[in-house]
Amino acid sequence: MPVNRVVVIGATGSIGQQALEVIARFPDQLQLIGAVAGTQAAALARALVPFPAARAVIVEPRDLVPEGMAVGREAACELAGSRDADVILVGGGGAGALLPTLAACGTGAVLAVATKEVMVMAGELVTATASAHGTTILPVDSEHSAIWQCLRGEDPGSVARLILTASGGPFRTTPLDQIPTASRDQALDHPNWRMGQKITVDSATMMNKGLEVIEAHFLFDIPYDLIEVVVHPQSAIHSAVEFCDGTVMAQMGIPDMRAPIALALSGGRRLPGVVPPLHLEEVARLDFEPIDLRRYPALDVARRSAIRGGGVPAAMNAANEVAVKAFLEGRIRFGAISEIVAEVSDAFPVSAVTSLAEVLAADSAGREQAAGLVQQAAVALTGVGG
Ligand code: MG
Repeated sequence: MPVNRVVVIGATGSIGQQALEVIARFPDQLQLIGAVAGTQAAALARALVPFPAARAVIVEPRDLVPEGMAVGREAACELAGSRDADVILVGGGGAGALLPTLAACGTGAVLAVATKEVMVMAGELVTATASAHGTTILPVDSEHSAIWQCLRGEDPGSVARLILTASGGPFRTTPLDQIPTASRDQALDHPNWRMGQKITVDSATMMNKGLEVIEAHFLFDIPYDLIEVVVHPQSAIHSAVEFCDGTVMAQMGIPDMRAPIALALSGGRRLPGVVPPLHLEEVARLDFEPIDLRRYPALDVARRSAIRGGGVPAAMNAANEVAVKAFLEGRIRFGAISEIVAEVSDAFPVSAVTSLAEVLAADSAGREQAAGLVQQAAVALTGVGG
């Protein structure tokens, strides 16, 4: 079996670290040839100790850069667009991952996307660039990996609906009136998944599922009204596809990102023993609940943005990144995240985004407007100006 040569973008993030762990475990199938991290040069150097031959790039170092490590956005894009790679994994970095993603789209290799923000911001641009260069996009997000697995070997014309499952996050049973003032620790206490802070807060607001609806639309070319979300607290079913004959195919497994990471890095081959198997008798029961939009208003905000289209999802995504960061810094309350994102995206004008410049303009406008609203909300929270 051929060895897949892999470049990992976002190597020090949660997805990147788990990807490196998978690559180290399967040296006969996977080889790390390069890694990019955002700011932590020392952490990147530590992560690459088991991979002495891999090239290393740090985008904006905040600490001392070790010898041999390249620096800057251009070097990161050059590595992401390397013709030596069979698979480029993009994980972490939020909107910052867009430029390396577009570089990877031009390679004709496999682009494994874990950073859903890039699909939300620039889904049309990313899919069009990839298909123009013969680049295959494979999902790493667990829901989209599940859908991809359910669709393998099926006629795309026979798909009736995509069904995304959502764990419900830490506030699934919290009394509604307590959610807006929930603390940072409460929002970061995800019941099922081990993930980075940004996505964990997105799971609490359920903006994560909203971003995933948009990601699914672009990855699988399915209209928004045929993409449903259902709460499934056990996270045993990672998502499902309903076909025209009434059959529903679902994919199950323990909630462990190393499974979808390994499947994407290997280009769809199943590597032995990636994660422990799921024992159905231990799961015991599978529960499903409809979405309560009073509990998760952000999901509705994301759907409205998606349907309006153009630059609105990019602006919404940018506003969400700003608002989540402000919440994590203790500057705004939890409930303000969805309010700020709704205010920015509902008022954002719909305009076509077919170029990188247009995507970046929508992103920075959304970011700027959200920063202003964060400032107001922070003033209201503390009662002091500034
Ligand atoms: Mg997911």
